[in-house]
Amino acid sequence: MSRARRGPHGARANAASGAFTGHFAGRSALVTGGGSGIGAALTRALVAAGAHVTCADLDLDAATRLCAAVAGPGTAHPAQVDVTDAEAVAAAVAAVVEDHGRIDLLFNNAGITFLGNTEDLTLAQWNAIIDVNVRGVVHGVHAAYPRMIAAGGGHIVNTASMGGLMAAGLMTSYVTTKHAVVGLSLALRTEAAAYGVGVSVVCPAAVDTPILDKGEIGDFRGRDYYLEGQGVKRPVDPDRLAARVLAGVAADEPFVVEPVQARVAWRLGRLSPGFVNRMATKFIAQQRAGADAR
Ligand code: NAD
Repeated sequence: MSRARRGPHGARANAASGAFTGHFAGRSALVTGGGSGIGAALTRALVAAGAHVTCADLDLDAATRLCAAVAGPGTAHPAQVDVTDAEAVAAAVAAVVEDHGRIDLLFNNAGITFLGNTEDLTLAQWNAIIDVNVRGVVHGVHAAYPRMIAAGGGHIVNTASMGGLMAAGLMTSYVTTKHAVVGLSLALRTEAAAYGVGVSVVCPAAVDTPILDKGEIGDFRGRDYYLEGQGVKRPVDPDRLAARVLAGVAADEPFVVEPVQARVAWRLGRLSPGFVNRMATKFIAQQRAGADAR
């Protein structure tokens, strides 16, 4: 897959104008976790840009509903895939290759979260989040990357999180897995470049999807945690994020970090990691006090 470079106005301008559309027309894509939230928005954006998308999710009904509702010129087909099952992921990738001759784009996006004190997390929960958020991505890479090399190109897009770039507690298991996804993505990108395969990692702050209310342990509240932690009133709109992701892929950007507050916090964290860690410790104390008061 030939990869466009950043144009004179940059990828962000392209996202606003939809100028990346030509990059995706006729491309084959697999999106995991495509039935909800960010994966659903990616599926919609890809189909609108002319791509042929397999929308894979554990929740087949959600993927089916989403595919029935998307508008062309591309196409979307639902598939039930559990990303923790390596054979199921490999079969989904093989089906894309069988249908379209190659897999151009893989979005390793499925993910789960837990919010709570780490001492309350069971080993089963630790294993579950590692299985979905890390092994799920590994399974996608293992199945699709050799095929992209053989085809002479492609692009792998891994959804990590701001939790992959920065660290605050009460989401320690999530942060663990998302740091792994950022590391995998950046390392693989340096290998894959020689084969014409792009790798990008998506690191959003809070995005307005059902995950914000999932995985809460005890009296912690996801929305309070995410919005207060990031000092924003509203989470990012998933369709807006998807447009930014496609622009980033078209421009072969290593990172897509959204919104602007997240980019500022990320830079601050690199400039002064000790300061940011102290701020995060205070924030965790406030969140615990809020949970105790409920
Ligand atoms: P979501 O809960 O709306 O969607 C996640 C989807 O993944 C669901 O449809 C779910 O059925 C699917 N899924 C879960 N386990 C699966 C499995 N084993 N196999 C296949 N599918 C599975 O959440 P979302 O916000 O759209 O999350 C998508 C990705 O974005 C996740 O990796 C998440 O960590 C990441 N992310 C989300 C936010 C946010 O604030 N929403 C911020 C940063 C990163």
